[in-house]
Amino acid sequence: MNPRFKHLYNDLPADYVDTFKAIFDSASFAGVLTPQQVKQLQQCTALDEQQLKVTLLPFAAAFSITPISKFNVGAIVKGATNNLYFGANLEFSNVQLGQTVHAEQSAISHAWMKGEQEIVDITINFSPCGHCRQFMNELSSAQQLTVQLPSMDAKSLQEYLPESFGPKDLGIESGLMSPIDHGFSSANDDALVTDAIIALNKSHAPYTKNYSGVAIEMLDGTTVHGSYAENAAFNPSLPPLQVALVQLQMQGMDFSHIKQVALAEINDASMSHLADTQNTLEAINPDIAFTYIALDA
Ligand SMILES: [Zn+2]
Repeated sequence: MNPRFKHLYNDLPADYVDTFKAIFDSASFAGVLTPQQVKQLQQCTALDEQQLKVTLLPFAAAFSITPISKFNVGAIVKGATNNLYFGANLEFSNVQLGQTVHAEQSAISHAWMKGEQEIVDITINFSPCGHCRQFMNELSSAQQLTVQLPSMDAKSLQEYLPESFGPKDLGIESGLMSPIDHGFSSANDDALVTDAIIALNKSHAPYTKNYSGVAIEMLDGTTVHGSYAENAAFNPSLPPLQVALVQLQMQGMDFSHIKQVALAEINDASMSHLADTQNTLEAINPDIAFTYIALDA
């Protein structure tokens, strides 16, 4: 049994437990539910999809890493492929709070890195904070996105963020998660650097043009990458290291097993992720090997 979910089975009706365990305790479960699995869970519970997502929120929140607040938030987004992606908040001891990832950012960046190009709706166990409302307003689907909370009717993001400020106010038409390839490459053929450049090429940085990406290799050889998600309001931007760490978090991988990290960004851009990336990695484990590459624009 997956110890992460163990306590949750006691809160479920007894006739749900076998089906839930078959999915959530499977070694292949990594915070994503396929439409077939959603259907299976709906058949077992007789819940409609929204009710099911609310029921699943504690399973998403079970991925939270909250050494500071101990306040666990779970989010579930539905992608255009009808897959559901879990997200949970992520905090870091001994660095400033700006490094924190909120559950909504986690679920959205999780779906993005798994190849989704649009988010249809998001279900959260607490009302989205102002920072997350602004983060979600960057999405290509921000005008259509619906937000579902437990015990409330679904509302549109625009109802949660009236008279919003967003990319279009700065003349940007292509939102976060729109497919893009910035087309950068490097003569450096190190595999992890190549991975970081793949992430850089998918990044959303229309305001600073500091396209950037991070790749992480674990001690067991697993690799993940994260692309930078910039925001029109700047502060809700999600750095590439955080996006990569969310991929590990949702696979249930332990950050103490990170072997090495590569950061790729643009040379002489108006901002840099270098200092914060090094600082946060240092706080996670000072022994993590780190490679940095800056590409000419
Ligand atoms: Zn938030």
